[in-house]
Amino acid sequence: MRLLLVEDDISIQRFVERALVEAGYRVDSTADSRSAETLALEGNHDAFIIDLGLPDGDGLDLIARCRAQGNGAPVLILSARRSVRERVKGLEEGGDDYLTKPFAIAELLARVRNLLRRASPGQKEPSRLEVGDLQLDLIGREARRGGRVLQLTPQEFSLLEYLCRNPGRVVTRTMILDHVWHMRFDPATNVVDVHIYRLRAKVDRSDCRPLIHTMRGVGYVLKDA
Ligand code: CA
Repeated sequence: MRLLLVEDDISIQRFVERALVEAGYRVDSTADSRSAETLALEGNHDAFIIDLGLPDGDGLDLIARCRAQGNGAPVLILSARRSVRERVKGLEEGGDDYLTKPFAIAELLARVRNLLRRASPGQKEPSRLEVGDLQLDLIGREARRGGRVLQLTPQEFSLLEYLCRNPGRVVTRTMILDHVWHMRFDPATNVVDVHIYRLRAKVDRSDCRPLIHTMRGVGYVLKDA
């Protein structure tokens, strides 16, 4: 899922972007409505998060222009305008949901999930993944093996999630870099191998049957063999 974040307060933008990326979304961030409109025109986003007070115009005008160009991606308005009149105006003029600042990041994430779920009811995202005795709770971002909670970093969780979404399928380092690190090139680092090594130490302890297998020279596969 790819999101467009339009927020000119850079500290809020970085904070929100980071939380969304850690929750597994791809995020394009921008601080003004002109570049937002250019990005929105590409039609690659599943939802927009838009601040109303932007340096080069009003977020509501941006939403109106996107709608006029046929872009129907759901919009979460994120704004300091908090009166009932302003919130109703936002919802009537193209916003699908409205969150006032200051906000709790957990609430923003919950609202984004709701927007995406409502926008595509046919392709409901799974909330859990299971391979053998390995279970991933995608909502709570928690992994368990044989009932034991695994202490994973957000990157390790994303990597494990990607492997679990492709059970029994070999994934290459390039695929992992693209899907987990959102890098479209090989930075010639061993970042993937290092993370697999750490992940394996947590998932495949010596008392467990190994799930993460190395396909020498190709990549990795997660399977309950
Ligand atoms: Ca603003």
